[in-house]
Amino acid sequence: MSQFFPYRDGRLQVSGVAIERLAEAVDTPFYCYSADALEESYQTFAAALSGLPATICYALKANSNQAVIKTFADLGAGADVVSEGELRRALAAGVPAERIVFAGVGKKGSELATALDAGILQFNVESLSELKLLSQVAQQRGTTAPVALRINPDVDAGTLDQITTGRADSKFGIDAREARDFLLRNRSLPGIRFDGLAVHIGSQLTDVAPYRTAFQRLIDLYLELRGAGVPLRRLDLGGGIGISYKHHLQQQIDEAAARVRDYAQMVRGLVAGLDAELVFEPGRLLVGNAGLLVTRVLYVKDNSERRFVIVDAAMNDLIRPSLYDAWHEILPVRSPAPDTPLRPVDVVGPVCESTDTFAKQRPLPPLAEGDLLVFSSAGAYSFVMASTYNSRPLPPEVLVRGERFAVVRARMDYDTMIGQDRLPDWLEDGASADRQPGARVRARGVA
Ligand SMILES: *Cc1c(COP(=O)(O)O)cnc(C)c1O
Repeated sequence: MSQFFPYRDGRLQVSGVAIERLAEAVDTPFYCYSADALEESYQTFAAALSGLPATICYALKANSNQAVIKTFADLGAGADVVSEGELRRALAAGVPAERIVFAGVGKKGSELATALDAGILQFNVESLSELKLLSQVAQQRGTTAPVALRINPDVDAGTLDQITTGRADSKFGIDAREARDFLLRNRSLPGIRFDGLAVHIGSQLTDVAPYRTAFQRLIDLYLELRGAGVPLRRLDLGGGIGISYKHHLQQQIDEAAARVRDYAQMVRGLVAGLDAELVFEPGRLLVGNAGLLVTRVLYVKDNSERRFVIVDAAMNDLIRPSLYDAWHEILPVRSPAPDTPLRPVDVVGPVCESTDTFAKQRPLPPLAEGDLLVFSSAGAYSFVMASTYNSRPLPPEVLVRGERFAVVRARMDYDTMIGQDRLPDWLEDGASADRQPGARVRARGVA
């Protein structure tokens, strides 16, 4: 399929390990990631930006396994976090606080306090109300919060509506004029140090043009404010660079690589001669094509004209197809003989929802019960969105590096899943004397 997911002797591998071996070790469904692919994607992005005064803050929300975060941290990455949970994950994985930026439209006071105490690089503030709260919290703690105002550049990223974030009608960022007027009127605010401006216009962008427009607006505002004496020194250009979900096509892989080069070249052109530190927040780009979801065929059945392949992964494990109509490549782990005829099938999971469908009328080689399949490009926004819907335990995650592998998150066991619930005292076994209908009404004080 690609250099990190090769077929060897007709068997699909992750780096140097056969997927069949992993399936024996952890059972299906499971996620697996190639550490080699993670390292390569980070190094490629870092190399494209080399020489620029840039901090690359990996956007944890794409994949927040501690082993993934630490893989990037060991290469020098910072982190872009959107919650206290992600902040704690980044710190626990060894990301230095001075390379962490905290984004998000709805940070709570307690989350701001934790991040202030940690001493992070920057708060990306998304409203003037949040700024006021941050100012209060910082003053209470006798400290100063480094701030970048997230500007809404009113640019349409041209991506899916669900993941576009830079239009004037989106909930993200502060209107550019409002931010400008505010900074010109309030050069200083107690507990706040204005360090920069930020944008993030959406996810899975496949065109650099919207970036250019948004970055140019940001830079114009930066220069105007600096000219007016606001001592800004940093621009955060966000994330959002798209990947190829047709990861088996060399042409598409090449296009994705070219996109990173074009992006970097465009940024270099815009920031040339600008006195500004830069922050980048890639998520999907670094992890999306480094991971797979592996599943096993449970049943094959024909309902009238349609053939359904029922697999043991479901929308609770990988929700992107149901949520965004996302397209994932589906490949058999054992490569079919050349010239095997393909036939269109629906690949569906066991969850009791019609939207638990991974693919409709997808041409696939003949499949039998027990066969292993993979959903490719499942390294980003996949495991992190998994749930226990239908009381299905969260799947395990495996990290492969060369010929070695490690289970970096075990499958959730049933006791853990059920044990998180608590019975109220009136349902505890000792309370069974109250179980008569009349007794319960009395206990509630209704009768
Ligand atoms: C989600 C997000 C990112 C990462 O987006 P990708 O499309 O995964 O690169 C970066 N910055 C912010 C503020 C985000 O919300």
